[in-house]
Amino acid sequence: MHEEFPTDSPAVVTCGLPYANGDLHVGHLRTYVSGDAYSRALDRLGQSVAFVCGSDMHGTPIAVNAAEADIDPETFALEYHEQYERTFPKFNVEFDNYGHTHDETNTEMTRSFVRSWIDGDHVFEKEIEVAWDAETDQPLPDRFVEGTCPYCGERARGDECDDGCQRHLEPGEIEDPVSTITGNPAEYRTRPHKFLRLSDFQTYLQGFIERLEGTDNAKHQPREWIEGELQDLCITRDMDWGIDYPGEGQEDLVLYVWVDAPIEYVSSTKQYSDRVGKAEYDWDAVWGDHSGPESTVPEGGEIVHIIGHDIIQHHTVFWPAMLRGAGFNEPRAVMACGFVNLAGEAFSTSRNRAVWADDYVESGLDPDLYRYHIVTGSEFTADVNFSWDGLQERVNSELVGTLGNFLYRSLLFAERNYGGTPDADTSEEVETRIEAATEAFREAVNDYRVRGLGRVPVELAKFGNEYIQRHEPWKLTDDEPERAAQVIRDCVQLSKAIAVLMEPVLPGKAERLWTQLGEDGSVADADLDEALSSPPATFGEPDELFERIEDDRVEELNTQLEERVAAAESDTGSEEDGSEDSPELKPIADDRIGFETFQDLDLRVGEILRADPIDGADNLVKLEVDIGVETRRIVAGIKGLYDLETLPGTRIVVVANLEKSELFGVESNGMLLAAGEEADLLTTHGDAKPGTKIK
Ligand SMILES: [Zn+2]
Repeated sequence: MHEEFPTDSPAVVTCGLPYANGDLHVGHLRTYVSGDAYSRALDRLGQSVAFVCGSDMHGTPIAVNAAEADIDPETFALEYHEQYERTFPKFNVEFDNYGHTHDETNTEMTRSFVRSWIDGDHVFEKEIEVAWDAETDQPLPDRFVEGTCPYCGERARGDECDDGCQRHLEPGEIEDPVSTITGNPAEYRTRPHKFLRLSDFQTYLQGFIERLEGTDNAKHQPREWIEGELQDLCITRDMDWGIDYPGEGQEDLVLYVWVDAPIEYVSSTKQYSDRVGKAEYDWDAVWGDHSGPESTVPEGGEIVHIIGHDIIQHHTVFWPAMLRGAGFNEPRAVMACGFVNLAGEAFSTSRNRAVWADDYVESGLDPDLYRYHIVTGSEFTADVNFSWDGLQERVNSELVGTLGNFLYRSLLFAERNYGGTPDADTSEEVETRIEAATEAFREAVNDYRVRGLGRVPVELAKFGNEYIQRHEPWKLTDDEPERAAQVIRDCVQLSKAIAVLMEPVLPGKAERLWTQLGEDGSVADADLDEALSSPPATFGEPDELFERIEDDRVEELNTQLEERVAAAESDTGSEEDGSEDSPELKPIADDRIGFETFQDLDLRVGEILRADPIDGADNLVKLEVDIGVETRRIVAGIKGLYDLETLPGTRIVVVANLEKSELFGVESNGMLLAAGEEADLLTTHGDAKPGTKIK
């Protein structure tokens, strides 16, 4: 249906807006790194493209948190907005424009969208039941209310069922509503609100979903919603913070955050176009002239949205209807990526179980290493795991062992023996191989496979290593100088092709390689065809592009993370939000044991007398435990989980007949019982004395 990239029309790549409500962690960055890589890849193909985004400044979570911090929501959100603007370039994420939803461009753009819907008779007013806090006498929009999802029965917060079916929830839908302000059960009261009549767009959306490209999840998931009865979208909220509803007589209402947030895609493109001039990039040519009759989709460019898979419905149902109702062009593709887990578990900001963007920056590791790890760690639509160990493994084996190794040995050999590129032609074999790699790259772009963009250059380097090994040029320089020159010529050509192909995912490293090759200008201006054009005849001695990450570095980073989690645990005493964070419970063991086997365990009630840290051991504590018949020394891995001073006097359960062991030079005589990762200590319910046997 759509022409392949590159097309003659301009393209825009957008990323789901970060919500200006907290620090970014490496999980959040997946979307932005992927968007950046994809837009760079389009550019390599020769596609005219802008990469835009902005901060999402409105909505109830910001209003709630700003109120708690006792500052106005604008100041609160702007602080995060500015922080994001500083953070993205540190990961080589370079937007052509980065605005925010509260700026003048977006406020005006949003109001003009809504006026178009009103003029087109797509907006109506309806009295609805809204949740209300009787104590504070105020309405409870979105995140001000919690309750049960009417669709799946999971606990839901306001307008999203994030822990369950991930549906958008309309005001009044949530069951058993509770106010997040006072914790009281909420009442429902009747209020007039404005709605966008989505059913007006049902036929249109059914056609749209057939045309839509992108990842399979984004193309298929919306079908159920679009084919069923479309629920009209309430576009106003009872709040002060937001963009005022532009129609008559409803000055006390603001627009729902999901109205003005996606419109920022258009506003941010316009800001870029205004800055560079329409001759260089014309936002109208992308989003359509939005003045034509509604019966046809206006002519426009290639709109590609890159988002997390939790907001597919917003981008494939609400957003195209919103664009359509205002006479704008429709998205060409929606690419929805999976989440990021941290060492196998979900990130938990409440438990500080996160690698924050700043942690990564402070680690001193190159941003391209993170980019590579996150882009190639799994298929784009699947969840990906981030861990320092995982990063180390991928960097050391693929970037150092394969990519860096090939580039360094090739360029060093070339420089030492020829002072640069040898005077010879590339072989047909290598030329064919480079052509195949550029074709694979082109296909990855057209199939919306971001992972492929990272795989292609590494696969080419793998071939290069094998090629060098097969021809052993170091054996040829004396006897067969012409063949040696040709082999090295091939290797330098492969290196240049790799520089062009790796630029989207590894832009900083590609730039350095480009300079090492003696090329002028920036690799970011090179087209894919440059992969086969001759490298400069002379270049200097190369240095190694990638460095190994050593074990002790990883250990340090892991310890830093563990200590932070432990500190957060002891601050709060327990997990704040167990439902979100606890790993899946393991199934009960298959094998049954006899009662006699159980009786082999000598379990006793103990009382902690002293608790001291052990020098050099990050997690271990030395306990003196009274078990009635004697006092035992037991070493336990609970440091950081408990305040040691509070432990004496605590009743615990001890395995008294466990073999002795030695940990960090301290003998441990017995073991205490505790539940889970957080070592919740087992205790007795009544007043069983120390030494009492447990049976
Ligand atoms: Zn649900």
